[in-house]
Amino acid sequence: METIYINWHGPFTRDDINCENHCKDDDCLCLSGNGLYALFGMQKYERKAKLQYIGLTQRRYIDRFNEKQDTENQHRINDISRNLMIWLGKVETPKRTVKREILEAAEYALIYFSEPQMNEKKTIYAPKFDCTVISRFFHKNSDKLRKRIPKLLNDIPDVISWNASPRNELHYCTRLKLIQQD
Ligand SMILES: [Zn+2]
Repeated sequence: METIYINWHGPFTRDDINCENHCKDDDCLCLSGNGLYALFGMQKYERKAKLQYIGLTQRRYIDRFNEKQDTENQHRINDISRNLMIWLGKVETPKRTVKREILEAAEYALIYFSEPQMNEKKTIYAPKFDCTVISRFFHKNSDKLRKRIPKLLNDIPDVISWNASPRNELHYCTRLKLIQQD
C-alpha cells in the first residue's frame, strides 16, 4: 500500500500567485510546482466558504494560476467569487521528482472522500487501488507546522487510509493529536 504525505501550505490569495505582484520571494512556493492544490471559498449563491476544488499540476503553480487561455481551472477560480483561499499541497518524498501517478492517486482519494463541490469527474467510483494519504498543514511559505488548523480545512482530513480489496475498508480521521514536535 502506498503512503503519500502531503504538506499543505497556505492560505495563498490569488495575488500571492499572480505573476506581476506575487510576494517576490525567491523561495515562494508559488514558484515550485508538481503538486496538488485546493481551492476554498464561496460561489456567488453560497453563504459559507468551503472546499470547492482539488486539482494537480505538473507545472509551476504560478504558471498554472496565470494561464492565459480559457481553461477549466480558470473557470473554477473565477466561479469562486468571494473569499478565495488557495492551499498548495506538496508531496513529501525523498525522491527528487514526484511521479504523476502518485499525484493522481492522492488527488483521486482526496476528491472521492472529501467531495469538493466543483470536482465532478472523479467522485463516482471508489478508488480501485489501496492508498493512505496523510495531510499536514503549514504556514504559507514556512516549514513550521500549524498548531491550530482552521475548521474550514476539515474537508481535508489528516488521514485517509483506503484498502480497496478485499473489502473496501476505510480509515478516516479529520485531525490527529500532535503529541510531539521538535
Ligand atoms: Zn509568490
